[in-house]
Amino acid sequence: MKSGIIFDIKQFAVFDGPGMRETIFLKGCPLHCPWCHNPEGQIADPMLMVSYAACIHCERCSAVCPSPDDCILCGRCIPECPLGLRRIAGEVITAQELEKRIRKDIDIYKENGGGITLSGGEPLMQHDFIIEFLDRIPDIHKAIETSGYASPEVYDAVYSRLDLIIQDIKIFDTHEHERIIGADNTMILRNAEKLKHGDKPFIIRIPLIPGITDTEKNYSQISSFLQGSRNLMRVELLPYVKAAGAKYQMVGRKYEPVFFNPEQDPVINTEIFEKRNMRCIVL
Ligand code: SF4
Ligand code: SF4
Repeated sequence: MKSGIIFDIKQFAVFDGPGMRETIFLKGCPLHCPWCHNPEGQIADPMLMVSYAACIHCERCSAVCPSPDDCILCGRCIPECPLGLRRIAGEVITAQELEKRIRKDIDIYKENGGGITLSGGEPLMQHDFIIEFLDRIPDIHKAIETSGYASPEVYDAVYSRLDLIIQDIKIFDTHEHERIIGADNTMILRNAEKLKHGDKPFIIRIPLIPGITDTEKNYSQISSFLQGSRNLMRVELLPYVKAAGAKYQMVGRKYEPVFFNPEQDPVINTEIFEKRNMRCIVL
């Protein structure tokens, strides 16, 4: 039986696919997007998170800590905090246990035309685990939110088990993708080709980062690539969230966005898709 590591389960989600859904967030991501607002999803292993901004420095946590210089995730400090500021992000769970958890509310989701959505981090990084989990729930609508960064073998195996794929295309130019995000996009575009020619409904998401993904060139390349896709439901534009750095301090990191000005508003261009007969919305 395979185990995975998740860092959250969001109930009654309404933006992660049709109807009302349970969204499962899996840890670990191979990309390094400088605008990422979920730093706890980037690292594959469990980690301590502390809301330092609200700390009253009572030192109750330090008093019980057996390893102050190098956290061993023993969890002793968590119940000691009077304000509940400490938690461990990352839970090891089997596919069987995850199925048991989501089945508690599944009838409500089904009645609302919903189901479950795998998100992250990058869920395809834990492909063995998610394949086992997806095979346990044939009766439930299954979606994924993915960067598309996975080998064709992994991607195709997961794709065949899904009902809806929500995939990012962030930067179309391969060299720019590698320069900004730290990995080239050959596999992402190969997998997007599969979506274009496949028989499953899909949604493409573009995070709008000022000066990076909202350029005329990027809009033009993505819209031209997607033109004629049979099962494209829509393109979703996600403007940069100015509070993206809020959680970095909680995981002991500094948010230092590079390559773009976080104060600048992104250019929103839905028309370029509409002119090519694609539906495009701003989230
Ligand atoms: S979980 Fe808390 S008590 Fe345990 S080692 Fe880490 S900081 Fe110390
Ligand atoms: S127990 Fe909570 S409030 Fe007290 S010092 Fe630790 S984190 Fe801060």
